[in-house]
Amino acid sequence: MKNTITINKTRDYDSVNGKFGEYGGMFVPPVLEEKLNLLAEQFEKYKNDSSFQQEFAYYLKNFVGRPSPLYYAHNLSKHIGSKIYLKREDLNHTGSHKINNTIGQILLAKRMGATEIVAETGAGQHGVATATAAALFGLKCKIFMGTKDAKRQSMNVSRIKLLGAELVLTEEGRGTLKDAVDAALGYYIENPEVYYLLGSQVGPHPYPTMVGHFQSIIGKEAKKQFIEREGRLPDNIMACIGGGSNAIGLFNDFLKDHEVNIHAAEGGGSGVLGQTAATLSLGKPGVFQGTYSYALTDENDQILPSHSIAAGLDYPGISPQHAMLKDLGRANYHIITDDEAIDAYRLLSKLEGIIPAIESAHAIALAEKLLKGKTGQISIINLSGRGDKDVERDLM
Ligand SMILES: *Cc1c(COP(=O)(O)O)cnc(C)c1O
Repeated sequence: MKNTITINKTRDYDSVNGKFGEYGGMFVPPVLEEKLNLLAEQFEKYKNDSSFQQEFAYYLKNFVGRPSPLYYAHNLSKHIGSKIYLKREDLNHTGSHKINNTIGQILLAKRMGATEIVAETGAGQHGVATATAAALFGLKCKIFMGTKDAKRQSMNVSRIKLLGAELVLTEEGRGTLKDAVDAALGYYIENPEVYYLLGSQVGPHPYPTMVGHFQSIIGKEAKKQFIEREGRLPDNIMACIGGGSNAIGLFNDFLKDHEVNIHAAEGGGSGVLGQTAATLSLGKPGVFQGTYSYALTDENDQILPSHSIAAGLDYPGISPQHAMLKDLGRANYHIITDDEAIDAYRLLSKLEGIIPAIESAHAIALAEKLLKGKTGQISIINLSGRGDKDVERDLM
């Protein structure tokens, strides 16, 4: 974790090295470097290829059900005293935004000749989305999941198995997302023919770039839908943030619109180091799981265990692009505690008839905090997923 990296102080994105300002890059053993360089090269080749783009658009429309609605939440708006639209990623097939990225990456994996897909999962939504995409294209699939997460998201464990994927439970560490990433990376290193389908905007280059690219569909749609309805840009856009993929998905298309304020809700846990997943609010820069970004560390630069009630936010690392946006002050990162998220989870369910994922409930809680009584403003909140997976957890 000791930071001995030469840092080049630039504010720009460097697509060749996958640097977001000083953050990002590829900090991996040489065997992995070779594979990742090939992956980066193939991604660059196909992302602008028209037949690839057409196939991606086809499956997003006909299989995922895009575009997802931009829904005016009139009851929530009335409650908060400010106009709020929800970007309904919860209505995607499989129940979250994760499927956007898995469809994109599996199309790339197919073109690269992969026969087996491997992925990590936290809340299980990425595991389900990957198992779904693998079933769709007839590819063998292995999902790594921590034992603690498997217990708290048992419905997704059953779904992953039903979809025909092999579920590998990892007993290491605390049995959460970090341990699942370690296990999946280990398997990837040992098995050259597999494709590692990473689910968030984390890890070494090219994953942060690639995941951000495939998720950007969220913000592209939301911007168009919002302008059609309101004839202008939103005052605020908000999302919850675990690794950073649903947030960057919404934010990417608005980054240059400086009149739009950008806010993200971190999984605060109980709000103190050692019991939190608020990496950008409470962590510091360092190398973790292949990238240079913020991480939750102790005074000796060792990774601290993370905690959040939301398995999908329970991770001590974060996207390098969000690290840059934080330092630049372009986006603001806030701590939302477990209790605040549970209140918002109940609130949205009762007020709007929409049960949000406990992850997404963090963004609703943030909206309540920041928008109370802001009558003239209009905002978009990304509803990253639905809460069916959380219903049996007794969060009432
Ligand atoms: C995985 C997940 C998240 C957190 O991951 P990001 O990469 O930060 O988006 C948030 N919400 C839901 C519903 C998820 O499944």
